[in-house]
Amino acid sequence: MTMNLTQKIIAAHLVSGEMTQGAEIGLRIDQTLTQDATGTMAYLQFEAMGVDRVRTDLSVSYVDHNTLQMGFRNPDDHRFLRTVAQKYGIVYSPAGTGICHQLHLENFAVPGSTLVGSDSHTPTAGGIGALAMGAGGLSVALAMAGEPYFITMPRVVKVRLEGRLKGWATAKDVILHLLGLLTVKGGVGKVFEYAGPGVETLSVPERATITNMGAELGATTSVFPSDERTRDFLKAMGRADVWKPLAADDGAQYDEEVVIDLSALQPLAAQPHMPDRVVPVASLDGLKVDQVAIGSCTNSSYADLKGAVSLLAGNRVCAGTDTLVSPGSKQVLKMLAREGLVEPLLDSGARLLECSCGPCIGMGGSPVSGGVSARTFNRNFEGRSGTKDGQVYLVSPLTAAMAALRGCFTDPATWGEAPAVADLPAEVPSIADLFAYPPQDGAGTEVVYGPNIVALERFEPLPEQLQAGVLIRLGDDITTDHIMPAGAEITSLRSNVPAIARHVFGRVDEDFVTRADALENGVIVAGENYGQGSSREHAALAPRHLGVRAVIAKSLARIHRANLVNFGILPLILEDKADYAQLEQGCTVTLDTTLLAPGAVVQVTVDGGAAVAVRNDLTAKELDIIRAGGLLNYVRLSKTA
Ligand code: SF4
Repeated sequence: MTMNLTQKIIAAHLVSGEMTQGAEIGLRIDQTLTQDATGTMAYLQFEAMGVDRVRTDLSVSYVDHNTLQMGFRNPDDHRFLRTVAQKYGIVYSPAGTGICHQLHLENFAVPGSTLVGSDSHTPTAGGIGALAMGAGGLSVALAMAGEPYFITMPRVVKVRLEGRLKGWATAKDVILHLLGLLTVKGGVGKVFEYAGPGVETLSVPERATITNMGAELGATTSVFPSDERTRDFLKAMGRADVWKPLAADDGAQYDEEVVIDLSALQPLAAQPHMPDRVVPVASLDGLKVDQVAIGSCTNSSYADLKGAVSLLAGNRVCAGTDTLVSPGSKQVLKMLAREGLVEPLLDSGARLLECSCGPCIGMGGSPVSGGVSARTFNRNFEGRSGTKDGQVYLVSPLTAAMAALRGCFTDPATWGEAPAVADLPAEVPSIADLFAYPPQDGAGTEVVYGPNIVALERFEPLPEQLQAGVLIRLGDDITTDHIMPAGAEITSLRSNVPAIARHVFGRVDEDFVTRADALENGVIVAGENYGQGSSREHAALAPRHLGVRAVIAKSLARIHRANLVNFGILPLILEDKADYAQLEQGCTVTLDTTLLAPGAVVQVTVDGGAAVAVRNDLTAKELDIIRAGGLLNYVRLSKTA
């Protein structure tokens, strides 16, 4: 039987289920990664499972989100992450070493492997041919404990690339083009598998830019074949031994196909406040830009930054355009330094930030009030920049550098030739010594908890008769940023659920927490695509702490839906979307949960009167997890059964 690449990697890791589209499958996971904002909780959950050492081939704990040590919380968290890594056999990447996905691509990702990471941009490693998926921290903790990772067998979309990028068009414009075409909902339940003659024209970092932002399509993941370009990249990284060729079989079948002619692409920008609001940069010509931010896991490779620096070098950025540059890793920074590119960058007036997520996660670098920020990042949700009325445009590093120099968006046609930049320098410096590798036996290591790290509470099982108040009714496309805002002050509370829960919906509705406090059980009502965006499991965990027992929505985003299940919250879908109008804030709903069965339509009574039909897309196991009060309870129960 011929197989596409996705099917091949799945078949090689399948531990349960049938590879028929829509069926639940369990996959053996080779590697895991965490970042600090989600990692502390993932390791608390891992510890709660009572396993003495990680059971993956490799697990890495990165510190890249809250690298600035404001107050005691972040350094305490870093110490916890370092010591827990030593004890349980996890590689630790200290603050400032780089962004998890960039570092993982360069140092650890393996073609044909499976990777789950507690970060939604884990698919970045698809650029090297790994099946890499973003997941909640609890799913990652389970994978570290040797448990399979469960997904729905995806539809596989062949993205056939033809031609070659030319002029000012870059890999960023490939994925922005796809987002404009398919929208932020276009990838749900799908894997985007790249193929065709255009693949070999793209370097591994360019491929990784594309797979990184596949997350914005809502895709399960995206993957490129592993070919000669992959081998060259791994060789340059000193890891030629892990290379192997991987591609779809000739004549392999796909569920859908999209064709992109790379040579027809032009520079694009995603307008505020959604990554799929894509227009040609030329159409924004002359729009004033107050800030430029270059970096993030999408666009901070050597070639990305060298391209930008080659424009900035010998010039000065516009006085009114604050220009920030964050290299993706110390490896990237060392490559730039060796080539003498740091000095011209500094002389241009740009600010060189630490190798970390930085402004992408609101860790400094917020734009001025109402200001336009041109960012090479992957998300431009309202308020994510830290400035509520900031207007964030997502662009390539070349477009960003042009905006920095002119102080406004510029039609690239008015510039001369685009710079030609090699993928990598002839010699790539290593940073392998900067990681802390765990000892063979970490049993004697003491895990150090700071006062901000609070043990996990045990949630109650789902009651048979659920009576709950509608705490809030929301519109479409609510993101995990809306539910559980980020930013330095809030994310520093991530290991302290009672404290961080005080901020749930804080930027949407200041009284939400007070209403939740007043009720034993609550329900959230939402429109389409509820919970899109990051894998932030606190967006499920913190509402659960506040007593939220169900979400009733028109539709739900994939990772958030999984997180709701993991923390014992019922994800319910309105059978008739018009019934949304009946579920007003303040009403009380009742549900006989004993009637719930996989795919069943059940009635929810509103204020003891009218009934609203809701269905679920839960498996029997997911229902058992919710009935148990969440995955941790379920795992504990199955161990004692
Ligand atoms: Fe970091 Fe931004 Fe990438 Fe998330 S999207 S991992 S915050 S750089």
